[in-house]
Amino acid sequence: MGKPHVLVIPYPAQGHVIPILELAQCLVTHSIEVTFVNTEFNHKRVMNALSDKDKVGGHIHLVSIPDGMESWEDRNDLGKLTSSICQVMPGKLEELIERINGSNDNKVTCIIADESVGWALEVAEKMQIRRAAFWPAAAALLALALSVPKMIEDGIINNHGIPTKDQIIRLSPTMPAMSTTQFVWACIGDLTTQKIIFEVVTRNNKSVGLADWLICNSTYELEPAAFSLFPNILPIGPLLASNRLGSSAGYFWPEDSTCLEWLDQQPANSVIYVAFGSFTVFDNIQFQQLASGLECTNRPFLWVVRPDIADENNDAYPEGFKERVATRGRMVGWAPQQKVLNHPSVACFLSHCGWNSTMEGLSNGIPFLCWPYFADQFLNQSYICDVWKVGLGFNCDESGIIKQGEIKDKVEQLLNDKTIKARALDLKEVAAKSVKEGGCSHNNFNNFIEWLKT
Ligand code: UDP
Repeated sequence: MGKPHVLVIPYPAQGHVIPILELAQCLVTHSIEVTFVNTEFNHKRVMNALSDKDKVGGHIHLVSIPDGMESWEDRNDLGKLTSSICQVMPGKLEELIERINGSNDNKVTCIIADESVGWALEVAEKMQIRRAAFWPAAAALLALALSVPKMIEDGIINNHGIPTKDQIIRLSPTMPAMSTTQFVWACIGDLTTQKIIFEVVTRNNKSVGLADWLICNSTYELEPAAFSLFPNILPIGPLLASNRLGSSAGYFWPEDSTCLEWLDQQPANSVIYVAFGSFTVFDNIQFQQLASGLECTNRPFLWVVRPDIADENNDAYPEGFKERVATRGRMVGWAPQQKVLNHPSVACFLSHCGWNSTMEGLSNGIPFLCWPYFADQFLNQSYICDVWKVGLGFNCDESGIIKQGEIKDKVEQLLNDKTIKARALDLKEVAAKSVKEGGCSHNNFNNFIEWLKT
């Protein structure tokens, strides 16, 4: 048999592209040929953001297919994006595979698809190609999705995924409590978006059954109860997070790596790192409270302010803010986050609790301040604060705003709490062990590689 040739396809969002590209990079180091399929829109962004030093491994072919949307349409509208890709991309993917197989001696031998693009597993089945599904988020979230039929039966949600009442549930006694109003499909966009996302969740629940492997960006030790509910889900999360230090490939925005030199100049364990992932948007009032909160901590901070983070395009900082914090505050458009979290100057991570950010913070032993915004971020906060106890959440005032005083108080409380830091360091060990020989991420990944090569 020739060299295995794996086609890898993410859901077209930053938090999905990064971990599955890391998986692709791990495959390449095991002499596997990889074709990585972005949407045309994201492919352009990735190529524009890629610097020479971050060249993607020579054996990864970065290719693209259309997502079915016009160039000016809003890809942050997840309902629109999801329905468009479901309609257009299966046909385009099939054509792409036919083209590759027609022109290349090394035909595609396996497809690894993000679980959120379950239609790619359907294409693989139709074309009789072996397949694996990749879940980029918490196993608990996948367990929630797979529990949809049972939750409908139990009357927790109706046939459209809408919670029948506002209540707290636990899928099993040791799993984090989940509010039904914070089910991932119930706290994304407007009602139309929620309906689309729920339909896709139920479709993906079926298509994931077509996969020979279901690989998850997490680990047993962090989520034992979730993995025991669905024992066929195999964790490799820490392996991916640890792989991230090498490369910044896959970013949608060019990274500003000068912040690493700035971090070099800060005292050890002093800097508040503030980042909200790729989607979160702030209104001006909240943005200004955050800025003032960071200012009044009197501590050094590194804050990722994406070009599209504020609602309005004008300069949203409080008047004179930049001058006042110039000696101890640094704002960047996009940071090499994994390297930042691995830097000895970083003391804590003020995060929106996206799953990748959660895994990256944990793998580096960094305590969290949690500021969830939508989708699975509330569940992830619950893990961080209530289950692993490695972070603190914020309280809003009566108008739903997190005020500067609250930010200052929680920073102080977190940084003075030695037990939180000690637990964070313990979990860092857990993650590191999982990647070493004999660890579960290491073993699962090696078994997967063996399978790919047979
Ligand atoms: N990220 C980064 N630089 C930044 C902000 C984020 O490299 O300035 C990366 C981060 O390391 C993570 C990903 O972007 O891997 C964001 O994924 P996550 O699941 O945390 O959040 P999402 O963007 O999906 O909400």
